[in-house]
Amino acid sequence: MNFYELTHKKLEEFLQENELERFRADQLFRWVYGRRETDFAKMTNMSKVARAKLAEILRFELPKTVKHLKSADGTEKFLFEVGGGDTVESVLIPADDRLTLCVSSEVGCNMGCKFCFTGKQKMKRRLTTAEIVGQYLAASSSVAARDRRITNIVFMGMGEPLDNPDAVFSSIEVLRAPLGCNLSKKKITVSTSGIVPLIPRVTESGARLAVSLNGVNDEVRTQVMPINKRWPLKVLLESCREHCRQTGDRVTFEYVLLKGVTDSLESARALYRLTRDVPCKINIIPFNEHPGSGFTRPDESQVVKFQNELIRLGAHVLRRKTMGRDIYAACGQLRTVHNRAEVLNS
Ligand code: SAH
Ligand code: SF4
Repeated sequence: MNFYELTHKKLEEFLQENELERFRADQLFRWVYGRRETDFAKMTNMSKVARAKLAEILRFELPKTVKHLKSADGTEKFLFEVGGGDTVESVLIPADDRLTLCVSSEVGCNMGCKFCFTGKQKMKRRLTTAEIVGQYLAASSSVAARDRRITNIVFMGMGEPLDNPDAVFSSIEVLRAPLGCNLSKKKITVSTSGIVPLIPRVTESGARLAVSLNGVNDEVRTQVMPINKRWPLKVLLESCREHCRQTGDRVTFEYVLLKGVTDSLESARALYRLTRDVPCKINIIPFNEHPGSGFTRPDESQVVKFQNELIRLGAHVLRRKTMGRDIYAACGQLRTVHNRAEVLNS
């Protein structure tokens, strides 16, 4: 069994099935996640017999980091090999006193949003818990060597997290485990394109919820996000309200500005009306261009006008700074790319 697949609870069960004491789970979590030690020979607070048995039943397997790129603006991108020639990416984003890691949940994505580079690539595989936790472990070791700590995790990389709920919620449990990575649940955000029946699992997990809205009525939203046909705005927003009622949290609505499609001042006003009875903040993201998308980024002046209109109406709105564009790490730019030629030709 790969240790990194197991939540603390599952590890306890696994140990018991193998006739080992459940409290060894605490010890193992401390060694592996606390001290990053995977050599059983060094785990000297356990008997030799227990260690020999553990070595027989547990192995430590993480995705291999194959590339680590740094952008001129401080953003970093990690590329991981996840077997079968597939790779996924994580992006590390520094901002003020925060260091946010954006993790991937799938190779490709089946939601097919029209503006998204990842969505052009059919989902090839859902990542395992170990592959998600592994992204954090690799990035966090890299920053620890520079005396920094990852403070926030967002599931906003490649893939639709709620299309891979089991691994996503297990990895959240591992990331939050007090004896493990010990991240606060309020520092973990799951972003979804709107798989409504699974939003209650985000609520249950304690993570924050972000929803990609990207359209102010069903007509526009369906045009850019086909998933809207299945779960239209009315049911999506009701499920967001329910999440807020249960948690007392606010939802983050992500809203991509596409020139001539979603960026008019009329859309800004409609966005305000649509979301005003949901406790929320709105995150506007000027479209990041990529080859062959058919969309363009609005002019800077239009982005400012759009944001100001929302502010004038009293919405809580933030603009997501575009970061890491030079290393293809900005929102919606992630895709398994083996070489530059593939980017330029696609
Ligand atoms: N699948 C999840 C999380 C990953 S996408 C989701 O859709 O929510 C993360 C965010 O990037 C989403 O809000 C999406 O709307 C946005 N995005 C996708 N492509 C983009 C692009 N080309 N430019 C700007 N934002 C983009
Ligand atoms: Fe998938 Fe999110 Fe991209 Fe849509 S925006 S295709 S859900 S990764």
